[in-house]
Amino acid sequence: MELINGKEIQELTFKEITNDVASLREKGVEPCLAVIIVGSDPASRVYVNNKKKACERVGIKSLEYALPEETTTDELLDLIRKLNADDSVNGILCQLPVPKQINKQAVLDTISPEKDVDCFHPVNVGKLSLGRAELLPCTPAGVIRMLDVAGVEIEGKRAVVIGRSDIVGKPMGIMLMERNATVTVCHSKTRDLSSITKQADILVCTVGKPKLVTSDMVKEGAVVIDVGINRNGEGKLCGDVDFDDVAPHCSKITPVPGGVGPMTITMLMKNTVTAARNQNNIK
Ligand code: NAP
Repeated sequence: MELINGKEIQELTFKEITNDVASLREKGVEPCLAVIIVGSDPASRVYVNNKKKACERVGIKSLEYALPEETTTDELLDLIRKLNADDSVNGILCQLPVPKQINKQAVLDTISPEKDVDCFHPVNVGKLSLGRAELLPCTPAGVIRMLDVAGVEIEGKRAVVIGRSDIVGKPMGIMLMERNATVTVCHSKTRDLSSITKQADILVCTVGKPKLVTSDMVKEGAVVIDVGINRNGEGKLCGDVDFDDVAPHCSKITPVPGGVGPMTITMLMKNTVTAARNQNNIK
């Protein structure tokens, strides 16, 4: 069994992105990401700080807009429209969740598709399903990157995704299909889950339930990617896969923490560079 190390792959990818940023700067383009945070949710604050640090790490300029808890949808949309119109800003993201008085869908729909580095805008979701994506949803793109760096062949393989969320499960299924895997996407209404997961050469789990996946659900030699981020009974971080039980049966597996987690922010940086390139017609 081989561990797929998200931190190592992040480091490798950051180096490539740093070079890409440097070559954009040589052409007079300074990639810039604007991050909006509304309210004072401590977890959101940590995520925003981490995004800022990642920008610094690869040389992307970051702007932070911290708005008060009582911000209205209109006030937030005004800021987004201002950032949409600002040519010096290449990527815009609004940290979720937003306070309950804010219309989240209106926020996501207002961010210009060209600057939508989280890839949540319906235009970008549509482009992904048509195989015409420019910006890619960060977590599933991170999973594909991990599989590629780990040397896992995707084409022709049976891939099973557990979970059909808009941000991970659904786009994961599409991206694996795009890479010529034969894909099944499972969810809470799936019957006899283990009979399906046992067929998987590549099993991706994105549910949010500790120890959902046990060794009797996994084919011998499978590649297992655990997207879940949960806390176990002792308050320790864990994924959806019962790691100690499953790992001995896998050819490769991602740990939690240190697996998929670091890749999401990595691919956000990559999207920001792609957005900067596209907006300046640089190939
Ligand atoms: P989500 O929106 O919470 O949805 C969970 C999905 O799991 C749903 O599609 C649900 O089915 C399905 N599900 C629930 N119970 C199930 C069961 N017993 N068997 C099979 N499927 C079941 O999912 P998410 O946003 O993708 O998040 C999932 C996990 O990934 C969470 O732990 C989250 O924290 C983590 N996550 C990690 C990253 C990262 O960077 N590593 C990024 C995003 C999310 P229905 O559709 O039928 O309800």
